[in-house]
Amino acid sequence: MTSVAETLRNSYNKGVTRPLPWRKHQLEQMVKMLEENESAFLDALAADLGKPRVEGFITDIAFVTSEVKSMIKNLKKWNKPERVGTPLVAMPGKSRLIPEPVGVVLVIAPWNYPVHLLLVPVAGAIAAGNAVVMKPSEVTTNTSSLLASLVPKYLDSSVIALVEGGVPETTDLLEQHFDHIFYTGNGTVGRIVMAAAVKNLTPVTLELGGKSPVIIDASANLRVAARRVAWGKWLNAGQTCIAPDYVMVNSSVRDGFVDELGKAITEFFGEEPKESESYGRIVSPNHFARVSALMEGGTAVIGGETDAATRYIAPTVLLDVHPDAQIMKEEIFGPLLPIVDVASTDEAIAHINANPHPLALYVFTGDKRVAADVIDRTTAGGVTVNGTIMHFSNPNLPFGGIGESGMGGYHGKSGVRLFQHMKPVLTRGTKMDPSIAYPPYTDRKAKIFRKVL
Ligand code: NAD
Repeated sequence: MTSVAETLRNSYNKGVTRPLPWRKHQLEQMVKMLEENESAFLDALAADLGKPRVEGFITDIAFVTSEVKSMIKNLKKWNKPERVGTPLVAMPGKSRLIPEPVGVVLVIAPWNYPVHLLLVPVAGAIAAGNAVVMKPSEVTTNTSSLLASLVPKYLDSSVIALVEGGVPETTDLLEQHFDHIFYTGNGTVGRIVMAAAVKNLTPVTLELGGKSPVIIDASANLRVAARRVAWGKWLNAGQTCIAPDYVMVNSSVRDGFVDELGKAITEFFGEEPKESESYGRIVSPNHFARVSALMEGGTAVIGGETDAATRYIAPTVLLDVHPDAQIMKEEIFGPLLPIVDVASTDEAIAHINANPHPLALYVFTGDKRVAADVIDRTTAGGVTVNGTIMHFSNPNLPFGGIGESGMGGYHGKSGVRLFQHMKPVLTRGTKMDPSIAYPPYTDRKAKIFRKVL
């Protein structure tokens, strides 16, 4: 039986994806699919993740449509050959980098932002001129089946396919020949993807996770810091790859910060967050059990309530967290926020450097020198100073991890370039053909070479 990758490759080889008007039309159709079915998407996200409708709209609909619209607007510009200089040795000649699609791309997405994390890379691959197979997460079943029913209606099925399924189906896809694999999810599966890519020398982009720390320096504006940490942490009930995982706060301002966190939680979700229409749920019973168990690692001073029947875990702040507790070892990926006291920002930097490079790093400070010092002395996928999450929202800042948190960045132009080969082309003129460039290598030529090379 012909594999999906082969079927798409046959159409790709006929040039279906090359013309810019085709790419533009597909991207427009993607926007149309999201806009015309917005309500169905929000229903599916609510059923899968208890996602508040406004949150679903912002993170899974509007973010995608705005990325795709910007790709449409810049399609010609980003696909234009880039002129580069030509050294004397290659004269007479003109040099260009021609953006060329890589071929057939596989995009594998996770469940936490199941529309966004699937369609943004898919849009980049289409804008770059590729055929694409997309595999949504099986964990968010409602969103997956909605996408499966809509994608063939809106997009060109000869070169854009959606395959639903879990481990067996993904394993089957990974046995096929792709020209780029873009995977978002956990590092264990990231390694499986990379190992599978080896046999065809397929390049991979791995968008992984990990523990993203927050540093609260003694100079921070505590109210603003608490509100921004609270927003980033409890968005999607903590199930965000760049959610603040834990906070390292200067002990001199710890109590003030925790106090402000409490106020922010009440302001955002009311006295009873369980009743709030702005607060989500844990995706599955398995994840609920895993996150609830992590609570043991500290003392809940805010929140702490759970309800297995509705997969609810309150926005929870933990103090007295033991460094060896499981919550300080694995990515929490849920609404628990451990607070660790540090004597200085230096101590926080040392802690970060003793652990795998985080996907995101957040530092709150009123002192620019402290921010510069933290940025200079640590390595992270991305940084927001005096904020959380927001570096992700700037398409001019490529988003991705480093080391354990992943490889490769996307969004905006970088999300198109990722799926292209910048083919270097030197075109030489024929009017001049100086014999200096050819043998025999006389002493006179050698002297000239020494001067010009
Ligand atoms: P998940 O369980 O949905 O898995 C992700 C994808 O991998 C799914 O499509 C799934 O079908 C596939 N998969 C699972 N097991 C597989 C296997 N054995 N072989 C092949 N494919 C397999 O999502 P997840 O991994 O639980 O997602 C959470 C993780 O993803 C967290 O670590 C989070 O930080 C990270 N994440 C990273 C980003 C980012 O942009 N860097 C974004 C979101 C989530």
